[in-house]
Amino acid sequence: MYLPGVGPNRKKLLKEELGIETFGDLLEYYPYKYVDRSKVYEIRELTGDMPFVQVVGRILSFETFDMGPRRERVVAHFTDGTGIMDLVWFNGGKYAKQNYKTGQDYLVFGRPSVFNNRIQVQHPEIESGVFATVPDNSKSGTAAANSSLFTFHSSLKMQPYYNTTEKMKKYGLTSKAVERLTRTLLEKLKEPLPETVTSDVLSSRHLMGRDEALRTIHYPQDTRKLEQARVRLKFEELFFVQLNILRYASDQRRKFGGYVFNRIGDAFNTFFHRNLPFELTRAQKRVMHEIRADMCSGRQMNRLLQGDVGSGKTLVALMAMLIAVDNGFQACIMAPTEILAEQHLQTIQQFLHGMNVRVELLTGIVKGKRRKEVLDALQEGTVQILVGTHAVIEDTVQFRQLGLVIVDEQHRFGVAQRARLWRKGSERVVKGSEVVVKGSEREVKGSERGVTLSIPHVLVMTATPIPRTLAMTLYGDLDVSVIDELPPGRKPIRTTHVFESRMTSLYDGIRRQIREGRQVYIVFPLIEESEKIDLKNLEQGFEVLVQAFPEFRLSKVHGRMKPAEKEEEMRRFVIGETQILVATTVIEVGVNVPNASVMVILDAQRFGLSQLHQLRGRVGRGADQSFCILVTPYKLSDDTRKRIDIMCETNDGFRIAEADLKLRGPGDLEGTQQSGMAFDLKIADIARDGQLVQMARDEAQRIIAEDPQCQSETYQRLWNRLRELRKTNINWGVIS
Ligand code: ADP
Ligand code: MG
Repeated sequence: MYLPGVGPNRKKLLKEELGIETFGDLLEYYPYKYVDRSKVYEIRELTGDMPFVQVVGRILSFETFDMGPRRERVVAHFTDGTGIMDLVWFNGGKYAKQNYKTGQDYLVFGRPSVFNNRIQVQHPEIESGVFATVPDNSKSGTAAANSSLFTFHSSLKMQPYYNTTEKMKKYGLTSKAVERLTRTLLEKLKEPLPETVTSDVLSSRHLMGRDEALRTIHYPQDTRKLEQARVRLKFEELFFVQLNILRYASDQRRKFGGYVFNRIGDAFNTFFHRNLPFELTRAQKRVMHEIRADMCSGRQMNRLLQGDVGSGKTLVALMAMLIAVDNGFQACIMAPTEILAEQHLQTIQQFLHGMNVRVELLTGIVKGKRRKEVLDALQEGTVQILVGTHAVIEDTVQFRQLGLVIVDEQHRFGVAQRARLWRKGSERVVKGSEVVVKGSEREVKGSERGVTLSIPHVLVMTATPIPRTLAMTLYGDLDVSVIDELPPGRKPIRTTHVFESRMTSLYDGIRRQIREGRQVYIVFPLIEESEKIDLKNLEQGFEVLVQAFPEFRLSKVHGRMKPAEKEEEMRRFVIGETQILVATTVIEVGVNVPNASVMVILDAQRFGLSQLHQLRGRVGRGADQSFCILVTPYKLSDDTRKRIDIMCETNDGFRIAEADLKLRGPGDLEGTQQSGMAFDLKIADIARDGQLVQMARDEAQRIIAEDPQCQSETYQRLWNRLRELRKTNINWGVIS
């Protein structure tokens, strides 16, 4: 079918600028807003800061101003009897002069502004038509006009607005033009648009049909119908995302088995009975049970472990790794940064002191001979636990018998990345299938022979809790465990907001804490664009602090330091040689100093909520009352104010995560873009449409359970649609 108004040029533009290639794409290019055109304003009501308004009236006269060679500004003086405003054209004025006549009724639509004390509308949209009763008061000047008298007959009550790019506008493809295209298309489509969702879902969820929804979304007749259309289209979008994830997860489960770790042996027992210095919290015990059940089930574990900063996830990870070791397998834990990896290594080595378990570190700074040694030992299987960074482990490491992968502090690890990991895991198994691991009861079966293939268990740990609806999407294929309890004796951190101007009294507070034997973090923000400036800020700030606290010793840590230097500075702080650690965000994930009780965050307005929460989590690790002080300049934006308020109000990571999602939207959340999930949602909003996410997931779950092989006649429509979507949506295709 050919669409009038779209020649080769526009076709190319639509494709290049918006990715619109088919009629379907065009129909799914939804308006981003609607302007209510049922209200007509009076000119005397208008101010310069109103959004779009419409006015009915008449043109009194035209005026033309020269603006250099072949350029003119045309102004039409326009009145509705309540006042006069100017309609202004910087281009296209000639056309306006020819087309619009004085003394005739027009409906003018646009965004008012003030120029030279007069209201004006630049490049207005103008409709002529029969406006039933335009009282002829333009001459009398009496302000008798009452907007309700203007019962005009515009074709639209709510005008849709479409996003277009600068380039498109240059070639006349404005929002209005897109509106015309969709309208033409909808008019030309005589057949109803095919339904994509099954009728039982539609009726049980009271959803609008697809044809009606698509027509309504571009062409709403009233707000109630528009809302129904939006719900329907959001549902559809979320539903296929869920169907995709769940089908993937179910496939994965059918194709791959998991090693069975049913033995609890020396490693675990020695640790638990001899080395573990404290009782596990109830939440830790519960989570351990869940993990154990997974690892004994014969299915591959895919679990997300959520737990606030300081809730003791590392310990859980370690115990899971020890179970892998007891069953003759290797385990690895991957951290997002080198410092965190190093800290994990230290923690784990301390926990395992005196035990016969070999733990090694592999990060970018482990080089040369040392690196080769570690790699060889991994292949031989003599290293049982590997601690490393994501990058390193993803690319180069060959294990002899990897049984468990733990991904820590994970925000940047969506379904697609995990898929790669699994694939790597399965390759390993295939290649290593001749390797017999002594004492292991595992079975390795070849996938080519159509038998289940076992792959490593995966545990993803995240410190910033992910709102449920986001987790369902970003980690929708994972089972979820939650540590919702902190180790005993922790006092909630007290958070306060302080303006820069009050630094001196802040210094006094810091001094008091240090005199009581506590330690203090002071964090400077890192502005990524310019490391140099950051460093200078930090150096200068450091000098100021050294002078402010002549009686104390200070450490300084930043990203540009050599690892050895950094480590030395950190060490000085950890052993209490220095009382203040001045740092950029390198401490965001990492150090554990229970004696540190004050976290001062300078220029706190520069940090996002989850970052602030993470930073704050560095204190409150000991039994003393801890404090977090957010320092900002006096002037703050609304969003910043909200962030600061939330931080002062609560320590609850889940609430903070929800707030973060609402403030930033899922697209901006760290990791959602690279996550490989369909986050370029067209209409649904994970933050606001939580109920729909749940509904979509419930339906998708029901269908997958009924038809796990995607073969049922009833659901063919769904599977076909899913295939279609996967073909056109790159992100979806990654999850294959
Ligand atoms: P997370 O990784 O969840 O942020 P960590 O594993 O670093 O938290 O634990 C924070 C601190 O709490 C560590 O010092 C750890 O040894 C300690 N810890 C963990 N579990 C317990 C427990 N059950 N009782 C007391 N302290 C614990
Ligand atoms: Mg941790």
